[in-house]
Amino acid sequence: MTRFPNLRRSRARRLPAAVTTAMLLLISAGLMMPGSATAAGPDTSEPGYWLVASPTTTVGELADDLSKRGYDVMEGLSPDGAPILATAAQAQRLRRDGLSVRYTGPLYQPVPASVQAAAGTYYGGYHTAAAHEAHNQQVVTAHPELAALKTIGQSWLKTQNRGGHDIQALCITKITTGDCALSTTGSKPKFTLMAQMHARELATGELAYMWIDYLVANYGKVAAVTTLMDTTELWVIPIANPDGVDIVSSNSTRPVSQRKNAHDNGCSGTGRGVDLNRNSSYHWDVNQGTKCTETYPGASAGSEPETRAIQSFLSSIYRDTKPAADFSAATTATTGTFLTLHSYAELNIYPYGWTNSLAPNNTDLKTIAANMAKSNKYTVVHGDGGLNYFAPGATDDWIYGTLGVPGYTIEVGPSSSSCSGFFPAYSCMASFWSLNLPAFMTLGTAAAKPYPTGS
Ligand SMILES: [Zn+2]
Repeated sequence: MTRFPNLRRSRARRLPAAVTTAMLLLISAGLMMPGSATAAGPDTSEPGYWLVASPTTTVGELADDLSKRGYDVMEGLSPDGAPILATAAQAQRLRRDGLSVRYTGPLYQPVPASVQAAAGTYYGGYHTAAAHEAHNQQVVTAHPELAALKTIGQSWLKTQNRGGHDIQALCITKITTGDCALSTTGSKPKFTLMAQMHARELATGELAYMWIDYLVANYGKVAAVTTLMDTTELWVIPIANPDGVDIVSSNSTRPVSQRKNAHDNGCSGTGRGVDLNRNSSYHWDVNQGTKCTETYPGASAGSEPETRAIQSFLSSIYRDTKPAADFSAATTATTGTFLTLHSYAELNIYPYGWTNSLAPNNTDLKTIAANMAKSNKYTVVHGDGGLNYFAPGATDDWIYGTLGVPGYTIEVGPSSSSCSGFFPAYSCMASFWSLNLPAFMTLGTAAAKPYPTGS
């Protein structure tokens, strides 16, 4: 692989097959670094991560353009370029367009054969959608005084009678009369943690699974957990996009890179589906992508059954304390917090994500995000993060803009290092968990009075 179009016919392209094979073996044995000056180049048989930069446009404009042309653009834009997930052939095409394209790492990490056999798991330990559902039920059966399970809607395939799943939400609290009632009138404030709306973001569902286990295992043992569960309803939607997760987990050593739901819209491969995090009914934007692109927002706002399930569930448990106008503040009487987990880029994102104009509760919204950053050390951002690349139609903006509840996104995991990417080795979960557990506790505690200043 050559770096520049005008060197396309360089000697390296015509190395004898035996030499090329030897180089690939060295790369797969970890003895040569893909992308280093002496390497033959990345393994071209599988997609990988690349950083794309343009000599003539800003990184945000470039990301927008790449996305609209069907490239798979990652979170975590930097002044250095837009990260994409692509094949070597796609990278080469971008080079021919005059862009600078640098390989940054493989999509897949090696999975130890010894952990492949665990029931209900894939790719070294990540739980399937069915295993999450079984786990939710086990937790309720084992701890009926601490957990209740609700069905809040259906996945797209289920609405079509083509298999699919119910969407599940678990309520975790020391249950007293009136708790977990899918009502806005309960006495306890609520914190909802939602995960794996983007199916391929494996670490997020696993963090939800760990959060559930941590809470029920430590009630009565860890003072902060006991206090939180005595005073707050902790809702968890571990798998917001179960059809997508079924696609991802269908290959246990090479998970399928499915981001969207399974809505069959005629697109092939991972082009199938709607981006549920662009499909909300708040600032839905038809221009986010065409049908087969990764950010296709759907045929209309709230078109997808998963979106409607989540919005109607959240509307059923949180009081609406914000006037409809975008820049009218939610009142100081607001209770509740909301978190949607995505990966990756090490960001704590607060509203708004559709505009750089400050949300009317900006001071308080930002304070909570900064408190989360005290533990996870992630970068606190809103709007486009200075890069002119917005995310209209996302869930965090919807819950704040519609109900006034502070909505956050954590982008779990680093942009570089061996734990980067959608498919980090399962061993990376330990560090993700220790960094983010205190952030979850921060959001749970903040639910009682998220807007102390009202500004
Ligand atoms: Zn995501």
